[in-house]
Amino acid sequence: MMQEQDSKKNSTVRVRFAPSPTGFLHIGGVRAALFNWLYARNHQGQFLLRIEDTDLERSEDRFTQDIIASMRWLGLSWDEEPLSQSQRLKLYTQRAEDLIESGHAYRCYCTEAEVEQMREIAMKEGKKPQYDRRCRSRTDHPVGQSFVIRAKIPLDGSVEFLDLIRGPIRFENVDIDDFVLIRSNGAPTYNLSVVVDDVFSEMTHILRGDDHINNTPKQMHLYQFFKYPVPQFAHLPMILGADKKKLSKRHGAVSANAYRAEGYLPEALLNFLARLGWSHGDQEVFSIEEMIQFFSFDHVQKSSAVFNTEKLLWLNGEHIRKASPERLAQIVLDDYPHLFSEEALTRARTSLGVQIAALIQPKVKLVKELADQMVPLCTPGVIEVDPSGLKWNKDPNLKAATQAAVKHCLHLLNARVSEASASSHSSESRSAQDREVWGSCPSLGQLGMGPTEVDAFLRQIGEQHGIKLGDLAQPMRLVVTGRLVSAGLFELLSLLPWDLVESRLSKVEQL
Ligand code: GLU
Ligand code: ZN
Repeated sequence: MMQEQDSKKNSTVRVRFAPSPTGFLHIGGVRAALFNWLYARNHQGQFLLRIEDTDLERSEDRFTQDIIASMRWLGLSWDEEPLSQSQRLKLYTQRAEDLIESGHAYRCYCTEAEVEQMREIAMKEGKKPQYDRRCRSRTDHPVGQSFVIRAKIPLDGSVEFLDLIRGPIRFENVDIDDFVLIRSNGAPTYNLSVVVDDVFSEMTHILRGDDHINNTPKQMHLYQFFKYPVPQFAHLPMILGADKKKLSKRHGAVSANAYRAEGYLPEALLNFLARLGWSHGDQEVFSIEEMIQFFSFDHVQKSSAVFNTEKLLWLNGEHIRKASPERLAQIVLDDYPHLFSEEALTRARTSLGVQIAALIQPKVKLVKELADQMVPLCTPGVIEVDPSGLKWNKDPNLKAATQAAVKHCLHLLNARVSEASASSHSSESRSAQDREVWGSCPSLGQLGMGPTEVDAFLRQIGEQHGIKLGDLAQPMRLVVTGRLVSAGLFELLSLLPWDLVESRLSKVEQL
């Protein structure tokens, strides 16, 4: 144990997430970022962010902004100032020229058409479609002719690495093309810029999607050319949609921000993505701290993982249950203010707003649902409701009896409230801000009627009128919450200021 901790402290794990800002930060990217982040945090190492925007045509600033905002939302904090490759273009050219100098790269003056022809010939001969290396030993320097810079890959031998997930992987050098490092327009290729920066940033481990596995031998040669110790690699299995095809927009939301908009909590999305391909016993629900503590590559699976939206939804519900109502109410205010009127928003901001959120919290799987249910409860006065789903529609006697029972309730409760107010009971236990926003009328709870008392009271009235508690509660729930399924009715009746409850319950008569 001691030793383990010591070795963790002494090692300086340095990893990075290196997205290309050619689209919004998607789920596959988040998972790559997460595994790097977990590994770094588990080892008390550093996690860096690098924006790989060398493709000037496809890279857009709005995507960079989205990546940064999404990483912040997810809490995947990075160390050091993020690098932007577009700011470093000269460096890559210099490094490529250094490689020419040291005999590891060369200028190739072949045209694209010529290279295409070489590939076709190779294919006809049953070989891999490769450049035929004809400029490798070329010594002339045709002035004014455009060229690319290619890596000079050894003609024999092999490269081998121990993938932390997949075990040993070996590539024969003959199968590795003398790939391009600098294009004819002077732009570096991914394989060059990635290694230059990974060397510059002193990366110790490269963890990324296994769509990059064929780049790894090329990059290993570059590390060796640069005389830099080859980092350790781990290639994460792909994420597939339910149809076992690579996850894409066809499968619905794929950007992190779209999940935020749908009402997912960052920790739920991270928990879900961590579990996609990684396990720790049969535990499903992990806090961020637990993920950091337990993460290791020993339990990352090799095969691709299928994205299961239902499981994500379930996990989100679990994490909503664990979150504090204060935080949930704040997320509602930050992410869904547009669902509220100005007045409702003011009410949602109060501590009574938080108490309302706390009542809804156990019943929802998305923060968006929480917001949807808070809106009518924070709206002042009566609300529009749709009575078409009420059970009494099929039974006029039930309707009449229920309406009479509700009227009876109102009569008794009104009397109770005025009596209490007269004897100077008031809403003193409510904060000044709550009273300012919600008014000074006390709630039944403040007058000593907690949810249990409300329950008993309604049960009794129901009995007197010959109707079941459920039948009495249904229209009350509808007019108070605007819904047939909602947070606990007795709790709400006890919590909300009586004048609000009263004005809404009065509407039962007109349904
Ligand atoms: N920019 C590359 C990508 O987004 C980075 C791959 C790597 O991690 O090396 O796929
Ligand atoms: Zn050539």
